[in-house]
Amino acid sequence: MEYEPVIGLEVHVQLNTKSKIFCKCSTSFGSEPNKNTCPVCLGMPGVLPVLNKEVVDKAIKVGLATNCAISPKTKFDRKNYFYPDLPKGYQISQFDMPICKKGRIDILLKNKLKSIGLTRIHMEEDAGKLLHGDNLGDSHSSYVDLNRTGVPLIEIVSEPDIRSAAEAKIYLEKLKTILEYVEVSDCNMEEGSIRCDANVSIRPVGQKEFGTRTELKNMNSFRFVQKGIEHEIERQTQVLKDGGMVIQETRLYDSNRDITFPMRSKEEAHDYRYFPEPDLEPVLVDKSWIKRISESLPELPDAKKDRFMTNYGLPEYDASVITSSRSLAHYFEEAAKGVKSPKTVSNWVMGEVMRVLKEDNIEPDQLVVKPVMLRQMLELVESEVISGKIAKTVFEEMIKTGDDPETIVDKKGLVQITDISTIEEEVKKVIEANPKQLKQYKEGKTKLLGFFIGQVMKATNGKANPEVVNKILKAILG
Ligand code: ADP
Ligand code: MG
Ligand code: ZN
Repeated sequence: MEYEPVIGLEVHVQLNTKSKIFCKCSTSFGSEPNKNTCPVCLGMPGVLPVLNKEVVDKAIKVGLATNCAISPKTKFDRKNYFYPDLPKGYQISQFDMPICKKGRIDILLKNKLKSIGLTRIHMEEDAGKLLHGDNLGDSHSSYVDLNRTGVPLIEIVSEPDIRSAAEAKIYLEKLKTILEYVEVSDCNMEEGSIRCDANVSIRPVGQKEFGTRTELKNMNSFRFVQKGIEHEIERQTQVLKDGGMVIQETRLYDSNRDITFPMRSKEEAHDYRYFPEPDLEPVLVDKSWIKRISESLPELPDAKKDRFMTNYGLPEYDASVITSSRSLAHYFEEAAKGVKSPKTVSNWVMGEVMRVLKEDNIEPDQLVVKPVMLRQMLELVESEVISGKIAKTVFEEMIKTGDDPETIVDKKGLVQITDISTIEEEVKKVIEANPKQLKQYKEGKTKLLGFFIGQVMKATNGKANPEVVNKILKAILG
């Protein structure tokens, strides 16, 4: 029996507001434990929450960027549960009237677009953090840090539209791109700014009804999400093949051992005894509010991708890779200004530029090779001052020295040799030095042309114009 995975993701995103969602405390990361707290976020009796409007602004922004309907009226609810890092004994969240509903994120799958539906986006407060003594050399105690308590989150819930672990990763990357474009979160994965719960089930191929799902909790790396889901699909398949039944439960993924294990049986909404938060009024979102946020949106990734395809003639794949980062897209546009072949620029950006960014773990605006330098270099290639091969050397030199391409070409004498008699001389020398290959060539092994070209290029330190070399060699070899 063949099974098909069905996956839905719940993603928690920490918003980058300066202060918390219901009090004035700072949201800054890495402060001394319990420093960023006050009676409100410590859950003292008698205090009242006050909504930080900027949180609503940012939630609306994400909703608009993901094709959601924005609710004209939205309210907060109490989600009751006990946890040592949740001092109030409940979390203020949203239940039946979330700020955004019915959205969509389009992802590129094997060069085909697929829409993943969004069920809802809601606002809520984060809980604190427990630090267990074993990591602090004190295995008898646990500590609580409430700095994170009350930090604003949005939760983005997808429809069960995802069909593989790899697809889940692509969806998450696209979501992160959108969040970066609209600048609502620092998207710092290491600090847990984006955390993902994955709901996974499998069903026999062709069956309409979904199977029983399990939920993998709280993963903060997209690679772990992918691996965790892969693992969970395998586990469920084995359970069914052995004639068993998948139990609806919450599981944890252990990336060190690459296994998932049960954490608790799945709770239902009614377990939380949701009820409307009595200390906060419902929020009315009128058209002018939505209009104001909508006007603050930048060009979004999909629109930018389409424009790059139309204006620069880039293939969809290139346009999609380059617009996956707003700053990379900016780098490309600066480099491509007035260039005859934007596709060449795209090749360089997706090749050398992205390689260096990755190796040095830096952002495009930190790269020593400024876009204008890349453009000048490509202009040197276009005007045949240097060859495409030498361009690689020039690029490496730019990275090392920060010099502009012309300076490097001058200093290192990299100007392309196009002079026919100079090249002819080199060609003759190479032929003389390789009588064996010459004989074979004459006997019909014409593939050796490449060998001779290579030798000439070597002899000229890659500076000979390859087309001229080719022509002369063919003429001489006959
Ligand atoms: P809860 O709030 O209890 O986690 P929801 O009904 O809000 O449950 O669904 C949470 C997530 O589970 C959503 O992303 C949804 O797409 C996904 N989901 C629902 N049913 C299934 C299923 N059978 N298999 C996989 N994912 C599912
Ligand atoms: Mg859930
Ligand atoms: Zn506070």
